[in-house]
Amino acid sequence: MHVLLVEDDALLGQAIEMALARWNHTSVWVRDGHAGLSAARTNPFDLILLDLGLPRMEGIKVLEALRAESRHVPVLIITARDELTDRIHGLDAGADDYLNKPFHLDELAARMRALHRRALGQSRNLTVVGALCLDTLNAHATFQGSAVELSRREFALLRALAERAGRAVSREVLTNALYGAEGGAESNTLEVHIHALRRKLAPSLIRTVRGFGYLLANESQPKASAR
Ligand code: CA
Repeated sequence: MHVLLVEDDALLGQAIEMALARWNHTSVWVRDGHAGLSAARTNPFDLILLDLGLPRMEGIKVLEALRAESRHVPVLIITARDELTDRIHGLDAGADDYLNKPFHLDELAARMRALHRRALGQSRNLTVVGALCLDTLNAHATFQGSAVELSRREFALLRALAERAGRAVSREVLTNALYGAEGGAESNTLEVHIHALRRKLAPSLIRTVRGFGYLLANESQPKASAR
C-alpha cells in the first residue's frame, strides 16, 4: 500500500513510519494539515492515516475538504481525542475508521488490512446473512448495524450457523464448532449457547429443528442489501 501519514507528533510519526516500512508499505509523512491536504490532492494514496490535532489545519478540516472534492481514499483517524462527539464528528465527516492513542501497532496493521480489503471490495472475510454480519478474520459480529459482544464460543457457533444459513445444521456439527474435535462438552451446553445468541441477537433468528439441530433464518432485509 502507498500510505499518507499526517501526524505532527515526531515520536509517534517516526514509530508509525518505521512500522509501515516493516510491513512493506511505502509512505509519505507530513506534519501539518495543509501539507496533508496538498499531498492527498496530488498523489494517489491507498490509505490516509490522519491525526486530528494538527498545526495549520485541523485533521477534520482536511478530511472534510477531501470528501467535498469527492476523494474517496480510505481515511483512518488516529487521535488522542477519545470523546464520543469527536468520534461521531469524524465518522460523519467521512472517516472510515478510528484508532485512539495510545494504540498497539498490531491493531493499526489489522485495521489497515480491513480498510484495504473493504476498499478493494473484497468481502471474503465477511459472512453476511440479512442484518447479521460476521467478520471472521477479527471474530467480530454486528447485527442491524450494531456491534454484538460475543464470547469466542458463541462466535464459533454463530459462524457455523451463518455459513449454512437457511439450512438445518445438526447438533453434531454445531457441537464440533463449539468445542472442536476434542469433545467433552456437557449435553446441555449447546442449548445454553443458542439461548445466549438468541438473547443477544433476536429470539426468532435461530430456529429449533426438532430432533436434529438448529437453523439460522436468512430472510434478506432490503436495507441491508442497499449500498
Ligand atoms: Ca497531533
